[in-house]
Amino acid sequence: MINLVRSNIRNLEPYSSARSEFKGKANIFLDANENPFDNKYNRYPDPLQKEVKEKIATLKGVKQEQIFLGNGSDEAIDLLIRIFCEPAQDSIMILPPTYGMYQVSANISNVAIQEVPLTADYQLDVNAILNQVIPATKLLFICSPNNPTGNSMNQAAIRKILDNFEGIVVVDEAYIDFSEQTSLLNWIEQYPNLVVLQTFSKAWGLAGIRLGMAFSNSTIIDLFNKVKPPYNVNILTQHAALKALKQVEQTEQYIQTILIERKKLIAELVKLPFIQKIHPSDSNFILVKVKEADRLYQHLVDQGIIIRNRSKLALCEDCLRITIGKPKENQTLIQMLKSISLNTKYS
Ligand SMILES: *Cc1c(COP(=O)(O)O)cnc(C)c1O
Repeated sequence: MINLVRSNIRNLEPYSSARSEFKGKANIFLDANENPFDNKYNRYPDPLQKEVKEKIATLKGVKQEQIFLGNGSDEAIDLLIRIFCEPAQDSIMILPPTYGMYQVSANISNVAIQEVPLTADYQLDVNAILNQVIPATKLLFICSPNNPTGNSMNQAAIRKILDNFEGIVVVDEAYIDFSEQTSLLNWIEQYPNLVVLQTFSKAWGLAGIRLGMAFSNSTIIDLFNKVKPPYNVNILTQHAALKALKQVEQTEQYIQTILIERKKLIAELVKLPFIQKIHPSDSNFILVKVKEADRLYQHLVDQGIIIRNRSKLALCEDCLRITIGKPKENQTLIQMLKSISLNTKYS
């Protein structure tokens, strides 16, 4: 695995912060050029966020050394590319239609992108994936449940890829809390080339604090820690995460409500004449195929309801992505859709 790492990263001498050089207890800290006057935020945050990781480790049943915390999972995606992919030389593999950040992060790093589309039912095309691997393919991003399609990937297929691909497999589980399928978190013990991403942005209701998690073996986590900015997760974020981790029931409540609302929304959507297909969802959103997606989208915008028009993506022709909202919001959406008859020109 360590041979996959860029040589400059392997040999990197990481920045040594004041907080990481002295870790013990003391009465007087005059080492970090901080302002000494206590206003709750005058000190630098814990660079390794130990208190937060302790809580996450207990909740998820992993070791603290198997956790990286970043400024959103987007930071973890970017760091993975910078750790493993030599610019203008290596590549990542993505499986469209999928989350856009893999591609954007690779482009920023001047790393090539190999695309292997999902099958017509949005599953992994395992043979095509393995056939297109070249020595330069360092990272494979699998999003499960997938954004924007909403479905989970077949676990046996993921296992086959883990067994046969020699690069790093990143399984992005941003929506796992809404899924019927179990997390692959406990596979990290078994597969040294597996990284699992999760986030506080969806089920936890904390998109605004920017906190993402990466789980893997401690060798890969050490690489993240070596490359990350020293104080990448600020004190406000760490406090908010600790608070949420002390009231897990709140998150469970959110998830239950969203799952009930998802079911209700689907039951209403199937009745509408211009809905052609509702793709199965394991997420907090649903992808629907409609007649004349652009017009329906614009009609909703005109009514002040914003959904996501995904109709230009591969395999998503005429598809709109609807996030599950609050019960009232979903009701309003349904009312709005019901008022459109098949023959109306939408507006
Ligand atoms: C929303 C989302 C994320 C979350 O990113 P954060 O930076 O943690 O907010 C990650 N992956 C996918 C597939 C997503 O849809």
